[in-house]
Amino acid sequence: MNNISSNLLQIKSRLPESVQLVAVSKFHPAEAIQEAYDAGQRIFGESRQQEIEAKHTQLPRDIEWHFIGHLQTNKVKSILPYIHTIESVDSLKLLREIEKQAGLLSVKVDCFLEVHIAREPEKYGFSMDECREFVATKEWEGYQGVIIAGVMGMATYTDDKEQIHQEFRSLRNFFQELKASFFVGENSFRHVSMGMSSDYGIAIEEGSTLVRIGTSIFGEREY
Ligand SMILES: *Cc1c(COP(=O)(O)O)cnc(C)c1O
Repeated sequence: MNNISSNLLQIKSRLPESVQLVAVSKFHPAEAIQEAYDAGQRIFGESRQQEIEAKHTQLPRDIEWHFIGHLQTNKVKSILPYIHTIESVDSLKLLREIEKQAGLLSVKVDCFLEVHIAREPEKYGFSMDECREFVATKEWEGYQGVIIAGVMGMATYTDDKEQIHQEFRSLRNFFQELKASFFVGENSFRHVSMGMSSDYGIAIEEGSTLVRIGTSIFGEREY
Protein backbone atom coordinates (compact mmCIF):
# COMPACT_ATOMS: atom_id res chain seq x y z
CA MET A 1 0.00 0.00 0.00
CA ASN A 2 1.18 3.45 -0.86
CA ASN A 3 0.51 6.13 1.58
CA ILE A 4 0.34 9.00 -0.84
CA SER A 5 -0.25 11.73 1.69
CA SER A 6 2.58 10.69 3.99
CA ASN A 7 4.97 10.29 1.05
CA LEU A 8 4.00 13.73 -0.11
CA LEU A 9 4.41 15.40 3.25
CA GLN A 10 7.77 13.72 3.78
CA ILE A 11 9.07 14.99 0.45
CA LYS A 12 7.70 18.47 1.06
CA SER A 13 9.45 18.63 4.40
CA ARG A 14 12.76 18.09 2.59
CA LEU A 15 12.23 20.80 -0.02
CA PRO A 16 13.58 24.29 0.56
CA GLU A 17 10.89 26.96 0.42
CA SER A 18 12.23 28.25 -2.89
CA VAL A 19 11.56 24.92 -4.62
CA GLN A 20 8.11 24.05 -5.96
CA LEU A 21 6.86 20.49 -6.22
CA VAL A 22 5.12 19.11 -9.28
CA ALA A 23 3.47 15.82 -8.30
CA VAL A 24 3.76 13.68 -11.42
CA SER A 25 0.53 11.72 -11.54
CA LYS A 26 0.77 10.13 -15.01
CA PHE A 27 -0.64 6.59 -15.13
CA HIS A 28 -2.19 6.99 -11.67
CA PRO A 29 -5.95 7.33 -11.23
CA ALA A 30 -7.85 10.49 -10.32
CA GLU A 31 -8.41 9.11 -6.80
CA ALA A 32 -4.68 9.13 -6.20
CA ILE A 33 -4.50 12.76 -7.30
CA GLN A 34 -7.43 13.59 -5.05
CA GLU A 35 -5.60 12.08 -2.10
CA ALA A 36 -2.55 14.24 -2.76
CA TYR A 37 -4.83 17.24 -3.27
CA ASP A 38 -6.48 16.62 0.07
CA ALA A 39 -3.01 16.61 1.63
CA GLY A 40 -2.47 20.10 0.23
CA GLN A 41 -0.79 19.48 -3.16
CA ARG A 42 -1.98 21.75 -5.99
CA ILE A 43 0.50 21.31 -8.85
CA PHE A 44 0.28 18.09 -10.87
CA GLY A 45 2.22 16.89 -13.90
CA GLU A 46 0.91 14.73 -16.73
CA SER A 47 2.50 13.54 -19.95
CA ARG A 48 -0.35 12.44 -22.19
CA GLN A 49 -3.07 14.61 -23.66
CA GLN A 50 -5.93 12.11 -23.37
CA GLU A 51 -5.12 11.33 -19.79
CA ILE A 52 -4.90 14.93 -18.62
CA GLU A 53 -8.07 15.71 -20.56
CA ALA A 54 -10.02 13.10 -18.64
CA LYS A 55 -8.51 13.88 -15.26
CA HIS A 56 -8.91 17.62 -15.26
CA THR A 57 -12.67 17.33 -15.69
CA GLN A 58 -12.94 15.00 -12.68
CA LEU A 59 -10.77 16.97 -10.31
CA PRO A 60 -10.89 20.33 -8.51
CA ARG A 61 -10.65 23.45 -10.62
CA ASP A 62 -7.82 25.05 -8.70
CA ILE A 63 -5.28 22.41 -9.67
CA GLU A 64 -2.33 23.86 -11.57
CA TRP A 65 -1.74 21.38 -14.41
CA HIS A 66 1.71 21.05 -15.93
CA PHE A 67 2.30 19.18 -19.16
CA ILE A 68 5.66 17.37 -19.04
CA GLY A 69 5.63 14.93 -21.98
CA HIS A 70 6.17 15.21 -25.70
CA LEU A 71 3.24 17.22 -27.04
CA GLN A 72 2.05 16.92 -30.61
CA THR A 73 1.08 20.17 -32.27
CA ASN A 74 -2.42 18.90 -33.06
CA LYS A 75 -3.09 18.37 -29.33
CA VAL A 76 -2.18 21.90 -28.25
CA LYS A 77 -5.57 23.44 -28.83
CA SER A 78 -7.45 21.01 -26.62
CA ILE A 79 -5.24 21.31 -23.54
CA LEU A 80 -4.72 25.07 -23.58
CA PRO A 81 -7.99 26.06 -21.92
CA TYR A 82 -6.96 24.49 -18.62
CA ILE A 83 -3.20 24.02 -18.72
CA HIS A 84 -0.99 26.29 -16.59
CA THR A 85 2.50 25.35 -17.79
CA ILE A 86 3.93 23.36 -20.68
CA GLU A 87 7.32 22.25 -19.36
CA SER A 88 8.28 20.21 -22.39
CA VAL A 89 8.44 22.65 -25.29
CA ASP A 90 10.88 20.77 -27.50
CA SER A 91 10.66 22.51 -30.88
CA LEU A 92 9.99 25.90 -32.41
CA LYS A 93 7.17 24.40 -34.39
CA LEU A 94 5.45 23.45 -31.13
CA LEU A 95 6.16 26.80 -29.49
CA ARG A 96 4.69 28.70 -32.43
CA GLU A 97 1.60 26.53 -32.45
CA ILE A 98 1.10 27.18 -28.72
CA GLU A 99 1.44 30.91 -29.36
CA LYS A 100 -1.03 30.75 -32.24
CA GLN A 101 -3.66 28.77 -30.34
CA ALA A 102 -3.23 30.74 -27.12
CA GLY A 103 -3.83 33.90 -29.14
CA LEU A 104 -7.03 32.49 -30.61
CA LEU A 105 -8.26 31.49 -27.16
CA SER A 106 -6.97 34.65 -25.45
CA VAL A 107 -5.16 32.65 -22.77
CA LYS A 108 -1.66 32.87 -21.38
CA VAL A 109 0.50 29.84 -20.75
CA ASP A 110 3.89 29.47 -19.12
CA CYS A 111 6.32 27.55 -21.33
CA PHE A 112 9.68 26.04 -20.44
CA LEU A 113 12.24 25.28 -23.11
CA GLU A 114 13.26 21.63 -22.81
CA VAL A 115 17.04 21.43 -23.08
CA HIS A 116 19.30 18.43 -23.72
CA ILE A 117 21.65 17.99 -20.82
CA ALA A 118 22.06 14.21 -20.62
CA ARG A 119 24.79 12.32 -22.37
CA GLU A 120 22.24 9.82 -23.62
CA PRO A 121 20.89 10.57 -27.08
CA GLU A 122 17.49 12.18 -26.64
CA LYS A 123 14.66 12.23 -29.08
CA TYR A 124 13.18 15.50 -27.96
CA GLY A 125 14.39 18.90 -26.86
CA PHE A 126 16.68 21.75 -27.86
CA SER A 127 20.43 21.85 -27.78
CA MET A 128 21.77 24.83 -25.87
CA ASP A 129 22.86 26.42 -29.13
CA GLU A 130 19.41 26.07 -30.65
CA CYS A 131 17.96 27.77 -27.57
CA ARG A 132 20.50 30.58 -27.72
CA GLU A 133 19.72 31.19 -31.37
CA PHE A 134 15.99 31.26 -30.80
CA VAL A 135 16.11 33.48 -27.74
CA ALA A 136 18.45 35.88 -29.55
CA THR A 137 15.87 36.44 -32.29
CA LYS A 138 13.62 38.04 -29.64
CA GLU A 139 10.64 36.60 -31.50
CA TRP A 140 9.20 35.75 -28.08
CA GLU A 141 9.03 39.42 -27.12
CA GLY A 142 6.06 39.78 -29.44
CA TYR A 143 4.18 36.81 -28.06
CA GLN A 144 0.69 37.43 -26.66
CA GLY A 145 -0.07 34.02 -25.17
CA VAL A 146 3.23 32.27 -24.54
CA ILE A 147 5.29 33.35 -21.57
CA ILE A 148 8.83 31.98 -21.70
CA ALA A 149 9.05 31.06 -18.03
CA GLY A 150 12.14 28.88 -17.76
CA VAL A 151 14.02 25.79 -18.81
CA MET A 152 13.51 22.09 -18.14
CA GLY A 153 15.96 19.21 -18.33
CA MET A 154 16.53 15.58 -17.43
CA ALA A 155 19.83 14.13 -16.32
CA THR A 156 21.26 10.85 -17.56
CA TYR A 157 19.86 7.82 -15.77
CA THR A 158 23.05 6.67 -14.05
CA ASP A 159 24.53 5.83 -10.65
CA ASP A 160 27.33 8.29 -11.32
CA LYS A 161 26.35 11.12 -8.98
CA GLU A 162 29.11 13.40 -10.19
CA GLN A 163 27.78 13.18 -13.73
CA ILE A 164 24.27 14.05 -12.56
CA HIS A 165 25.69 17.01 -10.63
CA GLN A 166 27.50 18.22 -13.74
CA GLU A 167 24.46 17.91 -15.98
CA PHE A 168 22.17 19.77 -13.60
CA ARG A 169 24.85 22.41 -13.04
CA SER A 170 25.09 22.92 -16.79
CA LEU A 171 21.34 23.59 -16.96
CA ARG A 172 21.44 26.02 -14.05
CA ASN A 173 24.37 27.85 -15.65
CA PHE A 174 22.55 27.94 -18.95
CA PHE A 175 19.51 29.46 -17.27
CA GLN A 176 21.72 32.14 -15.68
CA GLU A 177 23.32 32.86 -19.03
CA LEU A 178 19.95 33.34 -20.76
CA LYS A 179 18.69 35.39 -17.85
CA ALA A 180 21.69 37.71 -17.96
CA SER A 181 21.76 38.02 -21.76
CA PHE A 182 18.09 38.27 -22.68
CA PHE A 183 15.74 38.23 -19.69
CA VAL A 184 17.19 40.83 -17.36
CA GLY A 185 14.27 42.38 -15.55
CA GLU A 186 11.84 39.80 -16.96
CA ASN A 187 10.52 38.33 -13.74
CA SER A 188 8.47 35.78 -15.62
CA PHE A 189 11.65 33.97 -16.75
CA ARG A 190 12.24 32.29 -13.41
CA HIS A 191 12.23 28.47 -13.44
CA VAL A 192 14.85 25.76 -13.69
CA SER A 193 12.77 22.58 -13.71
CA MET A 194 15.03 19.66 -12.85
CA GLY A 195 14.98 16.68 -10.51
CA MET A 196 12.86 13.52 -10.42
CA SER A 197 12.39 10.80 -7.78
CA SER A 198 15.89 9.39 -8.20
CA ASP A 199 17.85 12.63 -8.41
CA TYR A 200 15.91 15.54 -6.94
CA GLY A 201 18.28 15.92 -3.99
CA ILE A 202 21.14 16.57 -6.39
CA ALA A 203 18.98 18.87 -8.51
CA ILE A 204 18.16 21.00 -5.48
CA GLU A 205 21.83 21.28 -4.56
CA GLU A 206 22.44 22.52 -8.09
CA GLY A 207 19.75 25.18 -7.96
CA SER A 208 16.50 23.65 -9.14
CA THR A 209 13.41 25.81 -8.58
CA LEU A 210 10.91 23.10 -9.44
CA VAL A 211 11.14 19.33 -9.03
CA ARG A 212 8.93 16.80 -10.83
CA ILE A 213 8.34 13.78 -8.62
CA GLY A 214 6.10 10.82 -9.40
CA THR A 215 7.22 7.42 -8.14
CA SER A 216 8.27 8.59 -4.68
CA ILE A 217 4.79 9.99 -4.10
CA PHE A 218 2.43 7.65 -5.95
CA GLY A 219 4.47 4.44 -6.17
CA GLU A 220 5.52 2.56 -9.29
CA ARG A 221 3.55 3.23 -12.44
CA GLU A 222 1.75 0.39 -14.21
CA TYR A 223 2.02 1.06 -17.91
C1 LIG B 1 7.64 10.65 -15.46
C2 LIG B 1 8.42 11.92 -15.40
C3 LIG B 1 8.87 12.43 -14.16
C4 LIG B 1 8.68 11.72 -12.84
O1 LIG B 1 9.55 10.64 -12.73
P1 LIG B 1 9.66 9.79 -11.35
O2 LIG B 1 10.92 9.04 -11.54
O3 LIG B 1 8.46 8.91 -11.27
O4 LIG B 1 9.73 10.76 -10.22
C5 LIG B 1 9.53 13.65 -14.18
N1 LIG B 1 9.74 14.33 -15.34
C6 LIG B 1 9.33 13.87 -16.53
C7 LIG B 1 9.60 14.67 -17.75
C8 LIG B 1 8.66 12.65 -16.60
O5 LIG B 1 8.26 12.20 -17.81
